[in-house]
Amino acid sequence: MSLSLKVMLNKEKTKVLFAETSSDFINVLLSFLTLPLGKIVTILQKHKGSEEAAAIGSLTTLYKALSELDTAHFSVPGAKEMLLNPASSFRAECRKLALDVTDNAPLQYFLCENGYCSQPPYTNISMYPNIATCACGRSLNRGINFPQSRFNESGAFIISPLLFIITDDLRVAPIVAGIVQTLSDFGITDTRGTEMKRLSLGPYEIRELLNLSLTSATPLTDMVMKNNKKYPQSEAWLDHIHQHDAATESKKIVVRAFLHKSTNKFLFAEASDEFVELLWSFLTIPLGGVEFLFDSNTPFKNIDNLYRSMSNSIDDKHFTTSDIKNRLVNPKLAHGYLSKNQFLPLSEEGPPKLYYQVTEKGLWCDYSFHEEEGTMVSSFESSKEVYIKKQTMCFVSDDLTMSPSLTSRILVLNDVGIPLTDMKETEFHIGLNEALGILKASLTSKTAFTDGLIKPLLKRQSKKERIGILKASLASKTALTDDLIKSMPMRQPKSEP
Ligand SMILES: [Zn+2]
Repeated sequence: MSLSLKVMLNKEKTKVLFAETSSDFINVLLSFLTLPLGKIVTILQKHKGSEEAAAIGSLTTLYKALSELDTAHFSVPGAKEMLLNPASSFRAECRKLALDVTDNAPLQYFLCENGYCSQPPYTNISMYPNIATCACGRSLNRGINFPQSRFNESGAFIISPLLFIITDDLRVAPIVAGIVQTLSDFGITDTRGTEMKRLSLGPYEIRELLNLSLTSATPLTDMVMKNNKKYPQSEAWLDHIHQHDAATESKKIVVRAFLHKSTNKFLFAEASDEFVELLWSFLTIPLGGVEFLFDSNTPFKNIDNLYRSMSNSIDDKHFTTSDIKNRLVNPKLAHGYLSKNQFLPLSEEGPPKLYYQVTEKGLWCDYSFHEEEGTMVSSFESSKEVYIKKQTMCFVSDDLTMSPSLTSRILVLNDVGIPLTDMKETEFHIGLNEALGILKASLTSKTAFTDGLIKPLLKRQSKKERIGILKASLASKTALTDDLIKSMPMRQPKSEP
């Protein structure tokens, strides 16, 4: 299966001015918004063949550390697998894509591992394996397949046939008022000397487009020209890091951190189970959810454009159902994914509708065909609503690598040559704003805490108390750090024993 795209190249044939395509291709683009961040990490790793080439900010190292962590640290054995393969709440829609690169696992449910168990199967069923037990005490890990909703001929998100214009930076709009009008809406008025090129895109090209949409300023040009350069990220997004002013009342997690005195760089933190869980939850958030959290002002400019086009330029009537647009604007986590420790404003979708009919073999369906005669599954067994074992302490580095052992962390510090005397211990109080700062930085930066937590603090600090710092600097060589620590949201470190 392939998708066709008509691209218009400029006179010099160096740049894509715009492209024209069908709703099939737009649906594939919109499916990017449904991808949980952890899923993007795995798709790009497979695509690029190496972790380094496919790295997205600190998310790749966060994912790697999670995959290396012993299952014993998780609340239930299946919790690790849930995080490593985050499910999407758009699995049903993505099945309808003309070309699906979302890598969603086929929908399965899990019953008691004992095939002869006498407990009723419709009250002992789970959506994920190894996260809950049957009333008989055995694990719910026996996967069942079942007939799924009939294939609906309508598109995944946008109805067809409809033609669209796409710009190089992924702004999209349907051609409804004529092509000239649509182009001029995008500021494209001169098309003299352009050359049309017809492209046929397979799964490889779509994955490359996903990669470029996160790393390039001109994804379509780079896809067509097969450019392979990484664009430097601007740090302009740092200015927008603290936008939730109402969040000052939010819950705060206390994190003990060690900073490099002379540079104010974050070295590592002692993270409680709650904080580790917050970091892990980043992997479960869909790309569109990141757009929603940051009001479409993320470091991913092309995705910002795509998201804004979807919500502003595509009329409701072009979507397949009335609520699909709302679901794309604020995509939820898949059912069962929301940790009870979560304090980012996220929500999860409701349970799927599933029916069980008592026959010789038992019959499962996810469509209401059996509503009359079947028993509806009303609740699914879930994990303990947390991923990590209580009281687990992890040591987290600036790139979100984590390990439960302090000695390994000290060894790493010895390797980079920072003496203990050049470290400063402090406490951060992580509330909603701080968590959003770390999340935003983790998307592009390999130093997520320094960029997402310390830099914004220093920035505010320098605005507010320039004079204070100036005064302190006359007395102390570590003025910035001293001043930083005196200020919110930190407390003075506990006195040495
Ligand atoms: Zn059982």
